[in-house]
Amino acid sequence: MSAAGAPGTQRTPATSEAPTLDPEQALAELRAGNQRFVTGAPYHPNQDAGRRAAVASAQHPFAVIVGCADSRLAAEIIFDRGLGDLFVVRTAGHTTGPEVLGSVEYAVTVLGTPLVVVLGHDSCGAVQAARDSVATGSTPPGHLGAVVDAVVPSLRRAEAAGVDDINGIVDIHIAQTVEALLDNSPVLAAEVAAGRCAVVGMSYRLAAGEVREVAAVPAGTARAAA
Ligand SMILES: [Zn+2]
Repeated sequence: MSAAGAPGTQRTPATSEAPTLDPEQALAELRAGNQRFVTGAPYHPNQDAGRRAAVASAQHPFAVIVGCADSRLAAEIIFDRGLGDLFVVRTAGHTTGPEVLGSVEYAVTVLGTPLVVVLGHDSCGAVQAARDSVATGSTPPGHLGAVVDAVVPSLRRAEAAGVDDINGIVDIHIAQTVEALLDNSPVLAAEVAAGRCAVVGMSYRLAAGEVREVAAVPAGTARAAA
């Protein structure tokens, strides 16, 4: 269907000015879009030539997605959004290295994006690879070791909490990633403390298509001194 006149399109912030959504409104947009996707009634907003032209000169995405690179976790599809809506940063296992942090900081401070979402999913291969590596004491080949190393702290946290099923570990890794973003990016933490941004962790179910919120740091939350 055409995006023209679709409610999702009408609610999209104008691209020629600063975003008009606050963190709660941005989260509501993602929840609504995911609900449309889950129920098989997507609008496919902002995916036509008109939108392409409208955002060619400037972007004001309303959410940053720090997601796993898994091919089944395409952000614009599962949240039923289009061009210019989401600023997506994906690595296997949603890691938080310097390029990821810099990308998040760019979106939040330069583009004024009011919401950061960490998006993980059940049966995550990166989490499973890290689990296998720890269990066997083996080091993965090539740069895969960097992915495993990034997930290991979450495995330790899960172990301490007595959680040993893969999807329980995934949820802990999502929450750990939310904490890592804020701990390692004073820029992001300051934006959250100032009330301009929120950070939410979501876990996606591959078969059902739905997201579940597993962690939240609301706008206005000040970080405890390290
Ligand atoms: Zn994954």
